[in-house]
Amino acid sequence: MLSLRKIDLVENIDLRKLCTIKIGGIGKHIFFPKTMEEFKIIQTEAFEKNKKIYILGIGSNVIFKDGILDHYFISTRKFKFLKYWDKGNEVYIHASAGISFKEILSLVKEKNLEGFEKLAGIPATIGGAITMNAGAFGVEIFDILEKVYWLNKQGEIVESHKNSINHSYRYTDFQKEGIVLSAILKLKKSKKPIKEIIKKIILDRNKKQPVNVPTSGSTYKNHKQYPAGFLLEKSGLKGYRIGDIGFSEKHANFLINYGNANYTDLMKLLEHAENLVKSNFNIELQKEVKIIG
Ligand SMILES: Cc1cc2nc3c(=O)[nH]c(=O)nc-3n(C[C@H](O)[C@H](O)[C@H](O)COP(=O)(O)OP(=O)(O)OC[C@H]3O[C@@H](n4cnc5c(N)ncnc54)[C@H](O)[C@@H]3O)c2cc1C
Repeated sequence: MLSLRKIDLVENIDLRKLCTIKIGGIGKHIFFPKTMEEFKIIQTEAFEKNKKIYILGIGSNVIFKDGILDHYFISTRKFKFLKYWDKGNEVYIHASAGISFKEILSLVKEKNLEGFEKLAGIPATIGGAITMNAGAFGVEIFDILEKVYWLNKQGEIVESHKNSINHSYRYTDFQKEGIVLSAILKLKKSKKPIKEIIKKIILDRNKKQPVNVPTSGSTYKNHKQYPAGFLLEKSGLKGYRIGDIGFSEKHANFLINYGNANYTDLMKLLEHAENLVKSNFNIELQKEVKIIG
């Protein structure tokens, strides 16, 4: 019988190490499960001890609060498997929650597969991408998704076809409940030069978005009429900073940590931005980034 003690656990970790924007306090318990069974054990223990659970992929769309966070954080980065098989012209990929888009991309390039290329360059794990319904250039992960295996509150592993999962733009019900364990993606064998197409897509992303700086991706969701970046830019917030946190000069919807940014300044900046956009456009910005704490 497996016990919690056998599961990899790091205590008192600097949460800045677990998110791409590098803001946050101390996480008291970070578990690194390697099997589905270990996820179940952590979840059971969390219920018994009345701890909140937060799942972490790469941490590319999260910001942690300051101080000591006494939750059960579960990182998926050690939970890895990747299998694939052909069915005629189609290729199915079964990937665990901790598999990164970079790892999927290697397979896509090696086998010259079509369907994933517009998602190239998003810093995501499979679990994080499904939970956020990540997407770019008009394609979302749900477009290439077949099914998801996930852990419900009762500790059961559920198999759900994508059509039975409530999802919309940058939203799925996994943001409210459930741990994504793995997923099956469906791609096509292609005759197009996929590697070349991917290269162009990544170049295009890099032209529009800040690269190689600590950021948490899109801060706000696009409004149905206007991109969030447009609303922020027109409100004079492109490049606007409070302390070491600011909106990028390159893309106003990206927050940048310019050195030693802290959570208090960040919240001041977000409040200021939301108030300005509300007074200029009568639009209430909706956060895409997840604030954890
Ligand atoms: C430079 C940059 C560019 C980006 N570009 C894009 C883009 O083009 N398109 C886009 O959509 N996003 C983009 N993002 C945002 C981010 O990459 C995506 O939201 C991505 O899907 C997050 O994946 P992650 O593994 O890092 O998840 P995390 O950021 O770790 O987590 C995101 C949310 O999902 C939850 N979660 C994570 N894993 C699981 C799981 N297994 N089960 C249940 N819940 C889970 C977390 O608790 C959190 O609420 C960008 C971010 C950066 C930094």
